[in-house]
Amino acid sequence: MERAITDEPQAAAGAATPDRGTVARRVYVEAFGCQMNVLDGELAVSRLADHGWERTLDADVADLILFNTCSVRDQSENRVWSRLGALRDRKERDPGLLIGVMGCMAQREAETILRRMPHVDLVCGTRRFHEMHALVERAESEGQVLAVETGGFVDVVRDVRIRPARHRAYVAVMRGCDHRCSYCIVPRTRGTQVDRALADVVEEVRRLAADGVRAVTFLGQNINTYGRYLPGRPTLGTLIREADRIAGIERIRFLTSNPMDIRDELLEALAETPSAAGYLHFPAQHGHDDVLRRMFRGYSRERYLQVCAKARESCPGIELASDLIVGFPGETAA
Ligand code: SF4
Repeated sequence: MERAITDEPQAAAGAATPDRGTVARRVYVEAFGCQMNVLDGELAVSRLADHGWERTLDADVADLILFNTCSVRDQSENRVWSRLGALRDRKERDPGLLIGVMGCMAQREAETILRRMPHVDLVCGTRRFHEMHALVERAESEGQVLAVETGGFVDVVRDVRIRPARHRAYVAVMRGCDHRCSYCIVPRTRGTQVDRALADVVEEVRRLAADGVRAVTFLGQNINTYGRYLPGRPTLGTLIREADRIAGIERIRFLTSNPMDIRDELLEALAETPSAAGYLHFPAQHGHDDVLRRMFRGYSRERYLQVCAKARESCPGIELASDLIVGFPGETAA
């Protein structure tokens, strides 16, 4: 579901020109879309902070305004187009201001953004944000930058201090998705699945816990297939057990599960790991087999309900959460 995940004021068109000479440079990020996008925004800021930048919640004083975008629906993109349009005059008055677009819309629209909005300096796709500082430097020295190549894994040793919540944190364990659900843009904007090494994820959780984090949420577009491309094929269950052993970690959650890939092994891991056993979010998307087939979801209504029953059996009292798409093309009243 997309919405502006920030209660910060929108990028104001009429702001005065900030004094760029003396103070640390400031970046303002407006994030749209899913938790993975929010985390990518944090990681991009973390890279800039490594080079002396500071995050600001006030767009008026920003040196760089960064839109972290979502392409789940037209509306999320239209909002960004209108934000960018609103910044045209300000950029004219203040040519030193930098404007960047990252995330799924940047990946999908790419050079179209630079053509339609010539006052935009940087378009950074879903697999290049870890180079944010270098890309900003290039935009300043060479002019408009387009960075949308999708190869490889975005491996950022994050500054764990940069996170919006004191005791909670998101941790990316993989990127992309190998499924092809018919309504979903993710495989096109985030590419196919690439897994992050188990040791790197565990180490990041250890550093977060040492910095006060008590609850971690592991993120992946289809997190149940985590480890498919890693040597020794560790699973999400392996990761949960490892994270549960880290001192300070009291709660483990993970998003998002495709019911098609939920295996008994995961439910056994949940049953053995109290810190992870309380909640399972796995989108059904629909309750009718014809529609599930046209969605290319790969499971039936019956299979979905079997997973619900198995989860409740393995983890008594577990909370089950789901998403549903209503009005899918061709849906009948029945
Ligand atoms: S599993 Fe999820 S992310 Fe992957 S294609 Fe389907 S809806 Fe999109």
